[in-house]
Amino acid sequence: MPGMLQIHQFPCLSDNYGFLLHEPDSGEAAAIDTPDGQEYLKQADIKGWRITQIWNTHWHPDHAGGNKAIIEASGAKVVAPREVEKLSTIDTIVGDGDIVTLGRHQAHVIDVSGHTNGHIAYHLPDDGIAFVGDSVFALGCGRMFEGKPQQFWDSLERIRQLPASTTLYCAHEYTQANARFALHADPDNAALKEYAREIDAMREKGEPTVPMQLGRELDTNPFLRADKAPMRERWGGTTPAETFAALRAAKDDF
Ligand SMILES: [Zn+2]
Repeated sequence: MPGMLQIHQFPCLSDNYGFLLHEPDSGEAAAIDTPDGQEYLKQADIKGWRITQIWNTHWHPDHAGGNKAIIEASGAKVVAPREVEKLSTIDTIVGDGDIVTLGRHQAHVIDVSGHTNGHIAYHLPDDGIAFVGDSVFALGCGRMFEGKPQQFWDSLERIRQLPASTTLYCAHEYTQANARFALHADPDNAALKEYAREIDAMREKGEPTVPMQLGRELDTNPFLRADKAPMRERWGGTTPAETFAALRAAKDDF
């Protein structure tokens, strides 16, 4: 059994989170997305870690815009979906079903497209964690810029099928605003009301609401609950993808 991974989470840009993943045995460290290359290099320096890999989730500049600075400073190798070529060189193009490694730790690549095409998540089953980028947020999901509702729903389905104990690291602190929409979308959900109260208390103290536990999201996140009767009754649709589309459109106008 490989030793524990160390995760360093820090705020980046206005509302992104940066993540550095360090494997002490091999001395490898992966930058999970690169909202701000200089900030990542600074944080790695503070921890005494050397960034050897970059794992991008999708091509948006607040996820891959810092690749170039990190590559130049550290020679890190880039693992990314093909679409990241818009912003950076890629050493290993990955997609659904691929496995990438950090020392002796494995990450399974899962296609979670919908926010963009070529959006992937990194699931580390032995560590019980997943980096989901802008696919799922605490109590929300990414805007559907490039994908289609059925595709996005299928992506959420792949996330739903991970073990409920999985810790999800999403890329933005959007939770309080997401909670307001969630309460509007699913007003009779007692577990959601309790979660929303905790979120307000955490934000009051300036604490991050990321990461979050998948099991709790399954009970409270309206987008992950689009196949549930209360959501279908309130938002319509004859398939979960249609209910999801109605929810997503309502959130865009909320
Ligand atoms: Zn994005």
